[in-house]
Amino acid sequence: MDVEMPAVGPEDVLIKVKATAICGSDIHILHSSPGEMSIINPPVIVGHETCGEVVEIGEQVTKIKKGDLISVEPHIPCGRCYYCETGAPHNCQNLVLFGIQVDGAFAEYARVPEICCWKLPKGYSYDLGAILEPIGAAVHGAMVEDINGKSVAVFGCGPIGQFVIGAAVAFGAAKVFALEIIPGRLAMAHQLAHKAILVNPKEQDSVKTIIEATDGLGVDVAIECSGDSEAVNQAFKVLKHEGRVSFIGIPTGLVELDLQMDIIRKEARVYGIYGRLIWQTWWQVRNLLDTGNFDPLSVITHRFPLADYEKAFELAERGEAGKVLLYP
Ligand code: ZN
Repeated sequence: MDVEMPAVGPEDVLIKVKATAICGSDIHILHSSPGEMSIINPPVIVGHETCGEVVEIGEQVTKIKKGDLISVEPHIPCGRCYYCETGAPHNCQNLVLFGIQVDGAFAEYARVPEICCWKLPKGYSYDLGAILEPIGAAVHGAMVEDINGKSVAVFGCGPIGQFVIGAAVAFGAAKVFALEIIPGRLAMAHQLAHKAILVNPKEQDSVKTIIEATDGLGVDVAIECSGDSEAVNQAFKVLKHEGRVSFIGIPTGLVELDLQMDIIRKEARVYGIYGRLIWQTWWQVRNLLDTGNFDPLSVITHRFPLADYEKAFELAERGEAGKVLLYP
């Protein structure tokens, strides 16, 4: 639909959107899932994984300039609450979500607060700029503790799982298991990280496979990216004592756990991962890309003009695609 040009406040910039990726949460919004509907502020323009060129800046903007290419950190912190003041703005008490609670980037132009702009280094493509945000979520989940030299099991090979696998290998994980029931996604994981050990839980006993391949010990790190309750439980079953689990995938309801056997007696460490550390994770992503050992662009499988959004969402939802990008 036609809407007014976004109004740019003194601390905002206006971007001309170049590319925006479809996130799982956008699909949840399309279907009015209860979780998303409890936080969304309709009517609102959705789309938050984006890259754009700055075409206008507010009068108090100092760091970002016209012509800069930026990526958006969609968690807008207030800067004044307990978490913001103690170095954890990603957990801000007054967090506002770009593209969910205020207008986002499935549009030609978008307003972005300067504090949420990540200036792209020279040589970054629009496509890469559009997927830095989900790469960041994956990197935060992988790197919340050191991963080099560790054995790692990644549950779910959707785009976030793909990024976790690529990042884990590039950051020096010793052994990476990729678990996924859709064969096409396992093939994608193989393309991104040849040394990943592919496991299809539909065709093999994944817990047994991983335990056997780790001298009966299990893995040091499990990273759950599927949100599936069975996978959540398997993440603990394949975990070594004193191992750690990162949860990134969002389950649709309550999940039952064997707290005694899987966490207490194992002395497991459990991390919930929501978003990225601002801006530590973004720097980690930049360093990761600088290594040249990780090419996330292979995770982008489809590109559509924004007008074909229905086709694009349908495809993203089917679970065979990687990242799907829309261009205004
Ligand atoms: Zn805050």
